[in-house]
Amino acid sequence: MRFDTIIIGGGLAGLICGIRLAGHNQRCAIVSSGRSSMYSFSGSFDLLGNVSNEESLYSLSDSLLQLVNENKKHPYSKIGLSRFETLIGEFHTILNRLGIPTKGNARENHFRLTPMGTLRPAWLSADCVAASPLADQLPWKKVAVCNLQGFMDFPHQLLAKQLLSSGVDATIHSLDLRFLDAIGQNSTEMRSVSIARLLEKQENLEELANALNRIAKGHDALLLPAVLYSAEGKAFEKLRNMVLDTELFMLPTMPPSVIGLEIESALIAEFKRLGGAFFGGDSVLKGEIQSDKVHHINTANHGDIAMLADNYVLATGSFFNKGLVATHNSVYEPVFGCDVAYLPNREDWYTNNLFERQEYLGFGVETTTDFKTLSGGKPVENLYAIGAVLSDYNPVEEGSGAGVALLTALCVANHILKL
Ligand SMILES: Cc1cc2nc3c(=O)[nH]c(=O)nc-3n(C[C@H](O)[C@H](O)[C@H](O)COP(=O)(O)OP(=O)(O)OC[C@H]3O[C@@H](n4cnc5c(N)ncnc54)[C@H](O)[C@@H]3O)c2cc1C
Repeated sequence: MRFDTIIIGGGLAGLICGIRLAGHNQRCAIVSSGRSSMYSFSGSFDLLGNVSNEESLYSLSDSLLQLVNENKKHPYSKIGLSRFETLIGEFHTILNRLGIPTKGNARENHFRLTPMGTLRPAWLSADCVAASPLADQLPWKKVAVCNLQGFMDFPHQLLAKQLLSSGVDATIHSLDLRFLDAIGQNSTEMRSVSIARLLEKQENLEELANALNRIAKGHDALLLPAVLYSAEGKAFEKLRNMVLDTELFMLPTMPPSVIGLEIESALIAEFKRLGGAFFGGDSVLKGEIQSDKVHHINTANHGDIAMLADNYVLATGSFFNKGLVATHNSVYEPVFGCDVAYLPNREDWYTNNLFERQEYLGFGVETTTDFKTLSGGKPVENLYAIGAVLSDYNPVEEGSGAGVALLTALCVANHILKL
């Protein structure tokens, strides 16, 4: 099986890279073994959220400049800030084509409301997500926190408590909805995705709208768990038109993330529409490097039948999705054995305080400035790395996860396309 480019990993990075390549008539394949980080997606894309002072929290361009000046090996430094506007424009074009409405822009962070009632910086949020333009203030005085009775994956009481303590008049409402009887007997079935499927039915949506309309009056906003599909023409948009007198927003739930899975499915469908071959549920077990080039890869499902391509893109994610593997005293990249940057002493990898900087999150595959991987210190000419598998950035500390995934994906695709 021969392709122009084979991408290993079908998370945000792999899919965006594949869409860009397939959109330019490349014969492109994505092999992806399992769930990506989109399964736990918050509904907001980060570019650079956590910065040293309050002023640069709002001004993304100042924060980015500071970051690339301080860390020359950061993926953003390798891309170069001068290319950001073009790459971000390419990402917006993809989102628009998929009918996924968003808010936010790359000039300034906005602040999404977390289910714990705190505000977190974000670059782009799905339009349905509850957010504020300010870091320390919500745009509403009186809100109703609405949960569906029996739904355990949304901490509505904690959210309301935190909102009250930050000066917002928050009331709690537990909605008793008949259509949930079908899944309500079994708490394992009462999950966000099952509810979203039920809410694609008009009569169920009307029942929810009626319940919300009984609460709406006098509230500036109603806050719901993210249990509705929110692309154009889907349930959330319809519900917004049916609920009168107030605004309606959703907040992330425990995984699975309905918004994340919806975006992921839309990206897979778009990749296939453009002629890409998507091998879901298959794992790349091994890649053969000969004379500084990948010759072929082997996957679990294809056994001895090798897959060949001119170029390969490693988009396998970090530890969470097995793109990196840690032993007791080392960290390695399991498919090609690429060079990995990590600290030699295990005691330095993490601190016990979950909220402090965790060094292991900055470990990853080392690359050249154009994201070619290194093996034995030498570039592998036709193997690129993108997204969370990369070294020299800390997605959690910086709040840069999706930004690095998206921009490195587009940067590498353009490099392969010689654009
Ligand atoms: C739980 C979690 C939640 C996050 N939420 C957010 C958020 O809300 N907003 C944000 O901005 N950032 C978030 N991030 C940061 C995240 O890292 C990036 O946003 C981005 O989604 C990473 O994408 P990726 O494609 O590089 O990797 P991943 O999403 O990890 O995808 C890697 C894919 O590769 C597959 N794979 C791995 N090994 C193989 C193999 N050998 N063969 C074939 N396939 C393989 C995996 O199964 C997976 O599907 C989150 C990260 C995590 C871990």
